[in-house]
Amino acid sequence: MSESEFWRRLSSAARTALHESGATTIADVALRFPLRYENWDALEKISALRGGQKALVEGVVTEARVVQWRGGRRQLLATIKDEDGDLLQARFFNVTPGLERSVLPGVRLRALGVVKFERGWEMAHPRIQFSNAAGSDGKMQAVYSALGGVPQDRQRRLAVRAVATAAWKETVPEQFRDFVGGERSAQACLELIHEPSQDNPEETALLESGKHPVWRRLRFDELLAHQILLRARYRRRGRLRAPPLKMRKGWDTVLRKALPFELTAAQEKAVAEVTADLRLGTPMRRLLQGDVGSGKTAVAAFACLAAAKCEKTAVLMAPTEILARQHFDTLSAYFAGAKIQCELLTGAIRGSRRRDALSRLRLGLSRVAIGTHALFHEEENMPPVAVAVIDEQHRFGVEQRRALFSSGAAHRLMMSATPIPRTLAMSSFADMDMSILDELPPGRKKTTTALVPHRRREELLERIGKQKFGSSYWVCPRVQETYADDLQDVLSLLERVRDKHPHLGAAVLHGRMPPHEKQEVIDNFRSGRSRFLAATTVVEVGVDVPQADIMVVERAERMGLSQLHQLRGRVGRGNREGACVLLYAEDLSEEAKQRLTIMRETTDGFKIAEEDLRLRGPGEWLGTRQSGLPALRVAKVGEDPDLIAAAGEAAKWMLDNDRGACYVHVKRWIGKRKKPAAD
Ligand code: ADP
Ligand code: MG
Repeated sequence: MSESEFWRRLSSAARTALHESGATTIADVALRFPLRYENWDALEKISALRGGQKALVEGVVTEARVVQWRGGRRQLLATIKDEDGDLLQARFFNVTPGLERSVLPGVRLRALGVVKFERGWEMAHPRIQFSNAAGSDGKMQAVYSALGGVPQDRQRRLAVRAVATAAWKETVPEQFRDFVGGERSAQACLELIHEPSQDNPEETALLESGKHPVWRRLRFDELLAHQILLRARYRRRGRLRAPPLKMRKGWDTVLRKALPFELTAAQEKAVAEVTADLRLGTPMRRLLQGDVGSGKTAVAAFACLAAAKCEKTAVLMAPTEILARQHFDTLSAYFAGAKIQCELLTGAIRGSRRRDALSRLRLGLSRVAIGTHALFHEEENMPPVAVAVIDEQHRFGVEQRRALFSSGAAHRLMMSATPIPRTLAMSSFADMDMSILDELPPGRKKTTTALVPHRRREELLERIGKQKFGSSYWVCPRVQETYADDLQDVLSLLERVRDKHPHLGAAVLHGRMPPHEKQEVIDNFRSGRSRFLAATTVVEVGVDVPQADIMVVERAERMGLSQLHQLRGRVGRGNREGACVLLYAEDLSEEAKQRLTIMRETTDGFKIAEEDLRLRGPGEWLGTRQSGLPALRVAKVGEDPDLIAAAGEAAKWMLDNDRGACYVHVKRWIGKRKKPAAD
């Protein structure tokens, strides 16, 4: 049977239901996995039932009536008599016209459900089949999620037919199959999943729990499809051209002189990797990850300088105005000696200032544009971009990245705010090269972390009020007081601190403030005029204020570990030791306690990232990248590192040796589903 014939032979109701469930290819139908299994042949006599257990009985309906309870709820009560003449009452709670029409005296049926004995045997919410339809075939009945009104046994037959029709040709090369259990083909795995035998309850149990080896094979296959997609995209880059940046010897001396520090070995390595990429005519696709404070900005500076030195334009994109401004100040200082001018292009910069900046860029008087997503809208007013650096890449939307990259061929350096867990990097960033800053600059003072119950909040405020030096961040979950909850808000905190400790010059920072106000607050905080900042989590984004030494986070239990780690990374940046206080609500769950303890015990961002992934899933890192990839059917993001590694190897081999199999495999698993965003 061909695919088109498969669809043609379906009833239009089934076709519509499948399409609505998102199954648009025959492989999609084959890959609709059962939720569990039922045995519709293990008949029991009513006389042999045990209460509280699931059982299947067969009999003739002797009586059927609909009762109406107060409140209008209707139930169908049917008495079933089995061969021995024993009785059981089936109680249906969802009385549809179809049910009323079919469950009638004289009808023979099978009922499956949990039984209990009260005045007699009763089965609530039974699932039924009419005996004449249920021919025994020795197979378990797989139970699928609801599909319009398509009955379960029909869903199973559809799935089985789809598996057979899809001509499930083996795509995985032999040398990689051993790794996922050898001889059973993907097709055989699917056959088993849709129709395990009734004779092997252990096997069924393994299938239901997800522990059966066939699931491992399918997870592998799915990861393989993703790896092929990502790696193919990485290779397609080979067909794109980007300006090769041939820097002269000593091109970076001027920057090295301007930096107030020596690069760490990790930074040196990253700079070498980046500049090697830039010298090539194929566009760089590199992800720079490093812990908070590992000095990613300095690496970005080298990339921008390389462009400028070759009389090309670089852009540096930051997720917020404050951060863009900070980068602008930093890079302007770094590049001053080289006479390379930077331009700041955020939403706040308008009118003639904006026009002038853009024309300086077009004329080549300025070579580096630093800004927020507002830069996206200036593509036609900008000179061609040779190098694009994207800071905290996960905070940009798919659409924004698409807009930024529509011109295609620039060299790109993506930077992540915190380390990305290894499995996630492998599974979701396989389309990029990786540079890792795995050491912090020397001389960093340790930041200690304390967990403090909320009731000691006042005491803490008092102590901060007495601080003679240093500056504090105090992060609250809310901007304003609301009646909905008792979460602390920044505005009441600000009032209190201004009142009690006026010498701190307390200020407030939150997302709803206009950009110029935010900037003023940050400037004051940086200069030390203001030494207390009540803020929402906006401060997490890369703010770099060296003398800040205390970070208080309220309701820390509500936040992700990586976010807390980001916040903690705001202090202890200069030569003062940092202190991070995590305030938590008294009634902490065991799990939340565990998470906060991890924060106290480690400052290693890579470890924290792994924990965060384990506890909260991949949202933190993928951000919107996630929505650029098709959702997974069986594999889980961040799990099975060995499978991902093997799938990566297999993908490489297949792309080199068997393009046809790549195509079939991706079509099968991804089909018409969303593909990764084209960047
Ligand atoms: P992040 O990786 O979190 O973006 P930044 O680039 O903001 O880190 O750097 C954090 C701080 O460390 C900055 O104040 C920066 O000047 C400083 N820094 C960066 N590299 C070094 C280095 N090699 N030695 C000393 N300080 C450094
Ligand atoms: Mg940063």
